[in-house]
Amino acid sequence: MMEVFKFGGASINSIERIQNVVSIVKNHEKQPLLLVVSAMGKTTNALEKVAEAFFENKQGEALQLFEQIKTQHLNMAKYLLVKEFLSFSAAFGDICTEAEWLLHDRPVRGFDYYYDQIVCLGELFSTLLIAHTFRENGLPAEWLDVRDVLKTDNNFRDAGILWEETGSITESLLKPMLQNKKLVVTQGFIGCTDENESTTLGREGSDYSAAIFANLLRAEKVTIWKDVDAVLNADPKQFPEAVPMANLNYDEVVEMAYYGAQVIHPKTIKPLFNAGIPLQVKSFLDPNLKGTLIEGKKQGALPPILIRKSKQVLLTFHTKDFSFVGEKPVGQWYAILEKLHMRPNLTQNGAVRLMAVFDDHPEKIGQLAGEAESIFDVIVQKDLTLFTIRHYTQEAIQQYLGNKKPFLVQQTPETVQYLFAE
Ligand code: ASP
Ligand code: MG
Repeated sequence: MMEVFKFGGASINSIERIQNVVSIVKNHEKQPLLLVVSAMGKTTNALEKVAEAFFENKQGEALQLFEQIKTQHLNMAKYLLVKEFLSFSAAFGDICTEAEWLLHDRPVRGFDYYYDQIVCLGELFSTLLIAHTFRENGLPAEWLDVRDVLKTDNNFRDAGILWEETGSITESLLKPMLQNKKLVVTQGFIGCTDENESTTLGREGSDYSAAIFANLLRAEKVTIWKDVDAVLNADPKQFPEAVPMANLNYDEVVEMAYYGAQVIHPKTIKPLFNAGIPLQVKSFLDPNLKGTLIEGKKQGALPPILIRKSKQVLLTFHTKDFSFVGEKPVGQWYAILEKLHMRPNLTQNGAVRLMAVFDDHPEKIGQLAGEAESIFDVIVQKDLTLFTIRHYTQEAIQQYLGNKKPFLVQQTPETVQYLFAE
């Protein structure tokens, strides 16, 4: 039986934290172990800037920004590695050279393609550094370029997994590697097309990568190491009174992600649910804490879960002639959403109007309003907050929503949502 560990950017953003990861893995007797790792700290954001500069034909700026990212990784390597430094810098240099060739060129394809070719470097760098640090500390880790295994379509920046191909390469390449080497370090978030182009799975996608491999390897468990004690019932930065939840089931986590809680990447649960694999969330700062165990069991009692989503936009679609909002206009409306790849955070139907709340992507909101004008009169209201309480109690509603004047309220036996001005 094997296990999968996922380490995110915050768990490896300093020398001490990388050393902490080494000791967590050392203390974990049970192997084989697959480590799925994100880019260090804010590297992905920095690489996004490189991609933007390159695409705006500012080659000099792109190269300069890239140089900073390189230096940062090299400096860490100098601290962490002695015996392993040469081997690290050779592999690191090869990846950089290839990237620099690309950055010297001029863009001739779409932005998303270049984004993926450049942004994938963050995970390649971090995993090279981690794998060499393991070896430096006597752990025989193997580095795997995940692009040899995780095959995707070419929907750049939101690539879809080619499950069959990925499954058969996992079986023929990754499984034997794990059985021999026991400890394999690979990248989250990135993949590769059949044409050898790098792809990414969407921001924060490393959780999803870990779940994909856990599914294909029929792993015993996935552990996501985070900088929080457990999954909490609210974002502790917004609600200091947040409390940990020891047990959650898959459904609850999917619901929380749907309403906007930033706990775990929303695509993560399905591959785990399908294979019945438990997901453990643990603190890398204090591995002795129990954390949260997520699995398929019936959900026990939970405290009210608070989710606040700001920068929301309410669109009201009123029929032009006061006819009822029937299937036909609603069908046309959904067709527009599908075309624009837009998903409302909340919808509500009345006799002659349809209301929907979206994240504020001004360009898309404009397109939606424009296209819907032929069917409805459209009103747009910005700067709103959508406050959701799952498993609400009257006290929680009173405490968090009591003094608000909502534009819209939606309530089911489990969930209440208020939309109000920011
Ligand atoms: N490094 C990527 C990001 O920052 C993927 C991840 O962290 O999961 O979005
Ligand atoms: Mg991350």
